[in-house]
Amino acid sequence: MSTAKNVPELFGSMVFNETVMKERLPKDVYRKLKKTMREGTALDADVAAVVATAMKDWAVSKGATHYTHWFQPMTGITAEKHDSFISPTDDGGVMMEFSGKELMRGEPDASSFPSGGLRATFEARGYTAWDPTSYAFVKDGSLYIPTAFCSYTGEILDKKTPLLRSMDAISVQAARVLKLFGKDVKRVTTTVGPEQEYFLIEKNDYARRKDLIFTGRTLFGAKPPKGQEMEDHYFGSIRPRVAAFMQELDEELWKLGIFAKTKHNEVAPAQHEMAPVFTTTNIATDHNQLTMEVMKRVAQKHGFICLMHEKPFEGVNGSGKHNNWSLSTDDGENLLEPGKTPSENAQFLLFLTAVIKAVDEYQDLLRISVASAGNDHRLGANEAPPAVVSMFIGDELQAILDAIESGEDYTDMAKTKMDLGVSALPNIPKDTTDRNRTSPFAFTGNKFEFRMLGSAINIACPNIMLNTSVAEELRLFADELESAADFEKALLTLIKREIKAHKRIIFNGNGYDDAWIAEAEKRGLLNLKSTADALPHYTDKKNIELFSRHGVYTQAEMESREETLLEEYAKTLHIEALTMSDMMRQEILPACVAFEGELAKTVKNKKEAGVSGGMEADLLGKVSTLTEMAYTKCGALEEAVEAAPAADAKAIADYYHDVIIPAMDDVRKPADQLERLVGKEHWPFPTYSDILFYV
Ligand code: ADP
Ligand code: MG
Repeated sequence: MSTAKNVPELFGSMVFNETVMKERLPKDVYRKLKKTMREGTALDADVAAVVATAMKDWAVSKGATHYTHWFQPMTGITAEKHDSFISPTDDGGVMMEFSGKELMRGEPDASSFPSGGLRATFEARGYTAWDPTSYAFVKDGSLYIPTAFCSYTGEILDKKTPLLRSMDAISVQAARVLKLFGKDVKRVTTTVGPEQEYFLIEKNDYARRKDLIFTGRTLFGAKPPKGQEMEDHYFGSIRPRVAAFMQELDEELWKLGIFAKTKHNEVAPAQHEMAPVFTTTNIATDHNQLTMEVMKRVAQKHGFICLMHEKPFEGVNGSGKHNNWSLSTDDGENLLEPGKTPSENAQFLLFLTAVIKAVDEYQDLLRISVASAGNDHRLGANEAPPAVVSMFIGDELQAILDAIESGEDYTDMAKTKMDLGVSALPNIPKDTTDRNRTSPFAFTGNKFEFRMLGSAINIACPNIMLNTSVAEELRLFADELESAADFEKALLTLIKREIKAHKRIIFNGNGYDDAWIAEAEKRGLLNLKSTADALPHYTDKKNIELFSRHGVYTQAEMESREETLLEEYAKTLHIEALTMSDMMRQEILPACVAFEGELAKTVKNKKEAGVSGGMEADLLGKVSTLTEMAYTKCGALEEAVEAAPAADAKAIADYYHDVIIPAMDDVRKPADQLERLVGKEHWPFPTYSDILFYV
């Protein structure tokens, strides 16, 4: 294990960043590249050639032999195909080469990536294009070039392109609004700091469980005698083996220029968290994808497996990801920081109102953005926010909004209103204590924390939804205010009107309380309980209008995404069902039969020996009944899987939700009871106690 390291020196040492660019590129090339990065202009072929050569020379000096266009297809994980730099020479040797063309564009055979019907087979190939706003880096002997992924007809096939488009959309609209406050801002960037939860378990335990291997979660497992009720794990002292893992993880992340900042134990046994310092959304997205990957790799080196699944263990807290989100100008002004002067306050309140309105009007999109078979186990399970989207703003802000809303008519109150509601915005304390962990979308002093995300998710999608919906509200506000005769009056009228119209989305109480769900229904908020319920709203008319207006998705792209997500949901459940029946037939039933055999022999032997006492017979009876039930239910599950419809993604998803999930529950129940009755030597795989409480 390493001793003290020079962190500033280590940080970004594997990244082709500003320092390296300045050092290795001719001045004019550097300037042109910077312009491209800043303004998104195209890069000339000759400039690209110079950048490519400099990048290759640098990468080779870091031990790279290959390069890869690194992209994020709709599956949500990252994809890469590696080509070496070698190029044959006349004398039978090789030299290391990398052209501008190879840097700018790649053509992976993309036919095996999901496209939701967008890409006809006759033009199966898509192409990847360099995203120069995210730095290239060296990892595992390859130069990684962050790219976007499109089809030849121009439809996007990845998560990065729409994210970049949504960032442009919100930038344009936010700049319009800022202009009304007399600010000339070129670019408004959304910033994100994603907190990442995960489990670490022993590699040997993992290797013995097919459910973990195939599905990432346990499909069987009785509750251990001790869970998280003692609350002794959260922020508890970190086991030495885990600490060693965390230290190496930090170092690996730092090398890749990732701002790994905070690490601690989480609520559940064997659960931990890592939080980085926030950064620009597309970079935060790339970094979070890398973080998850590096976590898995470093874990293996320490004899662990890192579980990223949202709910690896039933009855034990699952893992989430908190998407801390804000907006800032190119001067570094955080637009969600309450201001100190009346005019700054008004500006803050306008942005706040835009977010409130966006979250209310696009609840469905936010819910959809976090929908997955895995996350369905968490939302509403008293460990994560409910499936109902609502917002927490805290008592201080609530009082201000109430005052604004109940204020008298602006005509005579305009000036005093500014004073009453706006000039004296209190210094809102940052939510250091996480005092409302139950809210899906909480204001925490100078940013919003979107807490519904599952741990495995690619954060692009939630941010696309957030950015685009807030962009839309800012657009409407700018339209209204730009044409107003009296800006201040118009501003107050607007804020007052929108707060009245959208305050139903605000809830400052306990989101885990059942009473809230009833209240939310009364307020008319959506309760899209499962992924199958939520996804079909993706292509609701208002959502198609939203995304096409801001140039983020076309209707065809949205339809393809909805279909891909529905298919992914059904496929996940399909694999779980097959894994379940496999484990049942191959492992659990044979173990139970063997145990029954031993019991039966003992019963018989005792009887022959004339010994009284019927405990074994009683146990045999119980095990036999449960085994019979497990066998029958397993057969029923298999039949149900066979009977699944073959067409229409929505019908298939509904079927898996309505029929397969209950059938799986039926198989699990007797198995978990059997686990407690059948002797440890017979039970075929490690139990929750074994897995969660290792030393
Ligand atoms: P918690 O109290 O929720 O556990 P932390 O303070 O550890 O949170 O983490 C909060 C996260 O919010 C960090 O990743 C931090 O960098 C991020 N954050 C802080 N300010 C902003 C901002 N303006 N925009 C986006 N993220 C931010
Ligand atoms: Mg948090």
